This record gives sequence, structure tokens and C-alpha cells, in this order.
Amino acid sequence: MSTMGDGTRAVRAGLPEPEQYEPTLPGPVFAAHFHLSGDPTGPYTYGRDTNPTWTHLERAIGELEAPGESVETTVFASGMAAVSAVLLSQARSGDVIVLPDDGYQALPLVRAQLEAYGVEVRTAPTGGDAQLAALEGARLLWIETPSNPGLDVCDVRRLVEAAHAGGTLVAVDNTLATPLGQRPLELGADFSVASDTKGMTGHGDILLGHVACLDPGLAAGVRRWRKVVGAIPGPMEAWLAHRSLATLELRIERQCANALALAEVLAGHREVTGLRYPGLPTDPSHPNAVRQMRRFGSVVSFVLADRETAERFLSALRLAEDATSFGGVRSTAERRARWGGDAVPEGFIRFSVGAENPADLVADVERALAEAVDGG
Ligand SMILES: *Cc1c(COP(=O)(O)O)cnc(C)c1O
Repeated sequence: MSTMGDGTRAVRAGLPEPEQYEPTLPGPVFAAHFHLSGDPTGPYTYGRDTNPTWTHLERAIGELEAPGESVETTVFASGMAAVSAVLLSQARSGDVIVLPDDGYQALPLVRAQLEAYGVEVRTAPTGGDAQLAALEGARLLWIETPSNPGLDVCDVRRLVEAAHAGGTLVAVDNTLATPLGQRPLELGADFSVASDTKGMTGHGDILLGHVACLDPGLAAGVRRWRKVVGAIPGPMEAWLAHRSLATLELRIERQCANALALAEVLAGHREVTGLRYPGLPTDPSHPNAVRQMRRFGSVVSFVLADRETAERFLSALRLAEDATSFGGVRSTAERRARWGGDAVPEGFIRFSVGAENPADLVADVERALAEAVDGG
């Protein structure tokens, strides 16, 4: 499978060997416990430890994260369950953990929890590989690239090399890119972590997360953490996620092409400032992005004059709903400052580009922009 194209790999990922009269992708297995006589050895004993529907999904994600490699993937009930599993299972009191200061909005909550456990947390921006300066003596470096919502891109290989030289583990939050956009384990990271709520499942209807590792010892720690806290996905969600992966390449191809088309059009509008898309050749993230990314993601961000203009723009859109999250087949957009926490201007828009036809989407955005500006 390692030499095949992403589309071929995606439609077949994690499927069991064909068996006469069995479905291609077996349905969800709803089980709290399994028949088990004698000594309690696996593979399936109790529903908090293992479930065959997870096994299929975990194999599928592993084939996308590290084609041809022996990789271990653990699925979780949400992206935050996966993020916490790495950070909270690795950190010991007295350790130093390095986080980005421009990452996902729940990271400050994790930081507070780590500090309550006696962990020292340092932060630095994603851009300019600024986390390099915070690595001294750290146990783990947490990278989010492209960062959310600012879309800065750091040089993962460079950060990994410096971290490993000092005995520091590296985890990459790969939510925005998905494994079709970049493969952190190939870039040297120890953990590839994602919220599969976003582009991986792509329909905005389930929450899920995963952690993938090449090192069996690190993977065992993550798996043990899932067992301890019980942050397990339901079998139905796991099955829906696996079903969704079959169209991952189709969705991501279209959404990334749409995102570039939208960014190119926005670049020509005077009322749009601070435009960011790592796939735009003029974007400050582009040089790093082309070195490590295979696709540049479905999120475009930009700034409109003020809060009112941004609100008028959002309500004028007909093909993009005003909603948070990203990576789904239906475009969504939001004024990010409404949440607080992110260091962004009041008129900052995070636009998640869906799988609509590009001409329709671009026309809708241009009309909404004109209405938003005229209405002011
Ligand atoms: C959404 C998101 C998360 C958290 O995922 P949930 O599935 O909402 O728990 C973590 N990291 C990034 C970059 C995200 O966008």
C-alpha cells in the first residue's frame, strides 16, 4: 500500500481481509463485554479496553499517517481527549513542556491543568520556529502547524532535530492538515495527534480524535491513558469515521483547491487585509509549507475593517454558515474574536472552505463582501 496514491489508500484503508458473505466494512460492534472464558487474554475482553470497530479505524488511520510502517494508532472520544492523552500521560511533576502560544483555544486550559500537577509550561509562537528558544531541558515539545487560527507554519524537521538532540519528545497537532496534508511521523515527530472532528471525518456530525506513534512504548502509554480515563469513542462514531475516510482524498482535494481559489480572489480585494493561506505563494508560511506539506488545508483567514463589517459579511453569506469548527464539506465561517482567547482583531474571519463548486463559492463570498462594505 505504501506506493499507492492517497485516493486508493483512502478508499481501502483499514478494511479487513475479504470474507465470503461478510460486508466490506463490518458494521459497528456494540459491546460492553465479550464472551470470555478462562484466562482473560485479548484481543476483545471489555469494551473500555478494545473494540473491533476501533481496531479497523485505528488500522485505517495508521495506513494514512505512516504508509508501509508499523504504526500504532489509538482513537479517542474527541480531539481534546487525544491531546490530553499525550500531554497528561507524558508529563511528570517537575517536567518542562513547551506549547505554542497561538495554538488551539483549549491549550490554555491544558496548561492550567499541567501547572496544577507541578509541570512547568513554556510557550512561544509557531512562526519563525520561535519554540526552538524554549526547548532547554524540556520533556516534550507540542507543535501545531499550520497554527489555528493564525495559519503560521513552522519547520517541523528543524524543530524535531533540535528537540531530539536534547532528549525532548515531539508531538504535532495535525488537525488542520490531516495526514493527506502532512505526515508528522515522517517528519520525525514522536506523536501525530489530531481532532478527527474536523477534516478527517469532514461532515460536522461527530467528535473523535486519535494519536499515532511509531514507538510501541510511547503508544502503550497513550493506550494506557485511554483505559485510565475512559475517553473512548462510541462504536457508531468510530464506524461513521471509518466510512468517512473513504472519501477523504476526494474531499480534501476539492476543499484545498477551493481554498486556494478563494484566497486568490480575496487577495485582490482592497477591503480584505491580513489574508493568510499557506498555499498562496506570497504567504509568509509558504516556504516552510512547500517543504513539509503535501496539501495546504481548507482554512483561509483574513481581516475585515471591524466587528460590524465582519458580522454583516457573515450574515450575507448564503453558501457558508456562521459556525465554528472547520474541515467540513459545507463551508463555514466565523468571527473568531467572539470567543476571546485568540490574539486576533475584531474583524478576523476564519473561513473553512467546503466542497462546493468553486465558482459558486467565490461568487457568494464576493457578493457578501460587497454587501458588507456597502452596508457600512
Ligand atoms: C478542534 C481542535 C482540537 C480539539 O478537538 P475536539 O474534537 O473539538 O475535542 C484540537 N486541536 C485543534 C488544532 C483543533 O482544531
